[in-house]
Amino acid sequence: MSGERTVLLGMPPAKIAEFLPNCPRYSAVQIAGFLNDGKDFDEMTSLKKELRAYLEKNFVANPVRIIRTFEGASGTKKYLFKLTDGNLIEGVYMPHDYGDTLCLSTQIGCRMGCTFCASGLDGLLRNLSAEEMLGQVIAANRDNGGTCKRRAVTNLVLMGSGEPFDNYDNVLRFLDMVSGEDGINISERNISLSTSGLADKIRRFADSGHKVTLSISLHAPFDELRTSLMPVNKAYNIAQLISAARYYFERTGRRVIFEYTLIAGENDSDACAQELARLTRGFPTHVNLIRLNEVKERAHTSPTEDMTEAFLKKLERLDVSATIRRSLGNDIEGACGQLRRRYIEENEEQTGNLTE
Ligand code: SAH
Ligand code: SF4
Repeated sequence: MSGERTVLLGMPPAKIAEFLPNCPRYSAVQIAGFLNDGKDFDEMTSLKKELRAYLEKNFVANPVRIIRTFEGASGTKKYLFKLTDGNLIEGVYMPHDYGDTLCLSTQIGCRMGCTFCASGLDGLLRNLSAEEMLGQVIAANRDNGGTCKRRAVTNLVLMGSGEPFDNYDNVLRFLDMVSGEDGINISERNISLSTSGLADKIRRFADSGHKVTLSISLHAPFDELRTSLMPVNKAYNIAQLISAARYYFERTGRRVIFEYTLIAGENDSDACAQELARLTRGFPTHVNLIRLNEVKERAHTSPTEDMTEAFLKKLERLDVSATIRRSLGNDIEGACGQLRRRYIEENEEQTGNLTE
């Protein structure tokens, strides 16, 4: 356990230098560079031995460590990350022709309680710090042969476990760190953030100056149905959500993506398609259809591929810009939150605890 030690990853050199008063300034610059490459202190061999020993004793380089990698089809990898307090989170690495994408987590668990999702089954354990979000990016980048200057990870989606806007301040600090010129410098153009629909935070985010692609998990076009799937709809209903989405477009000029997970017999009717088309009309939007990834603890059914195609056709006939998202990572271990749960269950069976 190293919960008490200060994390250096993400600190600008001037701040690192404050912690190392006896060190030349260029050492702080070097250390920051090594940290952004994903190096641990014992790998910073160009530093003096005493300095390395001092760093190891008093600081943490990256608070996130890859402890398991599950490789899937077409180069996809699912990571199980361990944090310094022993907690586990997961991420998915997906190679694409336009650049490789990491799907990262923003919280351990989630308190939004969507009825189809594995991440929320145990509620929220805690928020991740900005450094723990950055740590996932740096660890996955290094694991795929990238450095700070020659990145393997070029795109990010904040779609792992957690509701990013329920951890608003840390997520914004993370966005500043990951897109900053001193660091790994991933442009906000290449970052997507997915929210279950905290309308007040969408508006605040629109005013913040950040310009990431905003994805909104809509999943149902009628309030009653949406509330039954996503309790957050009681706090912010569909009308409030659409109005906030429009505001995001007006402030940022970015088209808004609506995610719509198809659940057989629940949100795939003609009436749903028509209402979804009506809601997403009037400003630049796009609908991403996702086939439900069945979660064994949940009683929802995934539609067949044909049913999904049929729903897409209905939307297209209604002039909705829409695509089906091929959910990568299914062959590795289902939807977000499932890998972590399975790992915990197996380890509890074997050892009664999680220590490695
Ligand atoms: N909390 C955020 C981001 C993480 S979830 C949000 O809800 O938007 C990323 C996406 O996966 C969301 O659209 C979410 O609704 C969807 N999702 C969650 N569980 C799913 C499942 N079992 N099958 C398909 N999509 C799922
Ligand atoms: Fe949380 Fe998103 Fe899962 Fe809902 S879908 S429980 S908001 S992680």
